[in-house]
Amino acid sequence: MKIAIISDIHSNIEALSAVEETLDQHNVDATYFAGDVVGYGPDPDGCTRWIMENAQLAVAGNHDHGVVGRTDIDSFNVNAREAVTWNAEQMNDSSMEYINSLPYMTSKNDVTLVHANPKLPESWDYIFTLWDAETNFLHFESTYCFVGHSHQPVIVSMDKDGNVAVVPGDTFTAEKGSRYLINVGSVGQPRDGTPDACFGILDTSPGTFSIVRSEYDFGITQEKILKAGLPKSLADRLAEGK
Ligand code: ZN
Repeated sequence: MKIAIISDIHSNIEALSAVEETLDQHNVDATYFAGDVVGYGPDPDGCTRWIMENAQLAVAGNHDHGVVGRTDIDSFNVNAREAVTWNAEQMNDSSMEYINSLPYMTSKNDVTLVHANPKLPESWDYIFTLWDAETNFLHFESTYCFVGHSHQPVIVSMDKDGNVAVVPGDTFTAEKGSRYLINVGSVGQPRDGTPDACFGILDTSPGTFSIVRSEYDFGITQEKILKAGLPKSLADRLAEGK
């Protein structure tokens, strides 16, 4: 079974459309979504509808909870706060209801899905260090756990003896007895220095995983951001990938 894992779309429908094309080329069987469909960008409703129609499994992110009023957006930086408020104004009731229905964490087919971390999903705490990763391995049982949130792709493994290490590169084949904690990066606002939309594809039968990139015309998204009166820095960062 070929599963695409996508995260952090952030209302960027141009990036999402490019990802959709790549998914068609790869003939994926299912799409799982790791949270933050809205926030930052100009198309919250279109992106939410796409997830509603195409994701077989999905969880909520902190920006999703921001738009439906379930997380205190005072902790967001000023640009993120402004965008969440604007996003909430654009969204219809069915999008709001759908976002409200999403769980913090879920699992299926030996895959756990959570936006920030499996240890305490509602804390929205980031997994930054190898130590953070190691403690989080105790909080899921599946072979694979996929997260987003930092917008930076990274693969961490724990072998059968409990040794934790970063897997170099952007692809691997699972080893017997090992488990994997994987950040799939961001579709709509990558922060690893390249502007291309970022996500992952897992093929469960051989156990191969790859980070995949889709080029898209971020100039269109930038124009929409400016036209909506959203902060210019949110447009600029799409070109810089940060
Ligand atoms: Zn995000």
